[in-house]
Amino acid sequence: MIVVLKHGVSEEKKAQLISWLEALGLRIHISMGEYQTVLGLIGDTTGVDMDLVGSLEIVDSVKRVTEPFKCCNRKFHPEDMVVEVGDVKVGGGNFVMIAGPCSVETEDQIVTVAKAVKAAGAQMLRGGAFKPRTSPYDFAGLKAEGLELLKIARKETGLPIVTELMNIMDLHLFEDVDVIQVGARNMQNFDLLRELGHLDKPILLKRGLANTLKELLMSAEYIMASGNEKVILCERGIRTFSDYTRNTLDLAAVPMLHQLTHLPVIVDPSHATGIARLVPPMALAATAGGADGLIIEVHNDPVHALCDGAQSLRPEEFSVLADKVRAIRGIVA
Ligand code: PEP
Ligand code: MN
Repeated sequence: MIVVLKHGVSEEKKAQLISWLEALGLRIHISMGEYQTVLGLIGDTTGVDMDLVGSLEIVDSVKRVTEPFKCCNRKFHPEDMVVEVGDVKVGGGNFVMIAGPCSVETEDQIVTVAKAVKAAGAQMLRGGAFKPRTSPYDFAGLKAEGLELLKIARKETGLPIVTELMNIMDLHLFEDVDVIQVGARNMQNFDLLRELGHLDKPILLKRGLANTLKELLMSAEYIMASGNEKVILCERGIRTFSDYTRNTLDLAAVPMLHQLTHLPVIVDPSHATGIARLVPPMALAATAGGADGLIIEVHNDPVHALCDGAQSLRPEEFSVLADKVRAIRGIVA
């Protein structure tokens, strides 16, 4: 249930209403906008008399929310969420370009790519140290050593680092990571999500290979309901009957998610297509479609990459794309 307060309500009256609602066993999410304060009532609201609340002098309107997600529901929080990663802002009109290799391989590789993507205008560096691979025989990342190499690249460039955590047991290694990525395969690892909800750190939550938008939002809800509101959603393609691309990029997910949630939504055209040649057109389409950012795989030597070389752009290709992305932003922003 959401309760919209009238403009200019005194702090005292607001506090009285909140403590009364809390006494009914509810948790109150307060969203203070420039013109409106919205109270989100979280918990069992079946015992709340809507008419009574609606009749209070300070209340403008009361609505029941039918969606099962509350913390990430735009109805509770009409204004866009801006997730801050150091000086970098994501959402609410702030567009972010995250770029880097699929996997961290060597110090030279990650530092070279980090410098190149920074020069092209990327604001964050991606790179997997713990890699979910379909085959147990494939390169599964440098693990702790990979995280150290990412930190070296961050020191060299100043770019915040985004990297995937697969298992809660490794969480202690991620203390100094700027953004923790939950990969598509772990989108419904509910224990992991709950644990990440206890952190004060941005989480990049990727949509699962065969998950609906509602399921994606429910996963965000797990993180947020545990207390961490800093969630960035990522559309990275879903499984359909596409035969020539790795996945199908569901671009309509971007405006739909913007309608449903206040969380920022970014797009990963690399995993969505699996083909480097298709990455620029899909990145531009996502930008035009209102995405809050892009996460793109870039490798200095894609042919010899240990993972996802076929979908990785070379630094010079990324640089050309980044210019075009900025041009599109100039039109749609
Ligand atoms: C990745 O970003 O490297 C990755 C494995 O992505 P996804 O979880 O979307 O497949
Ligand atoms: Mn990859």
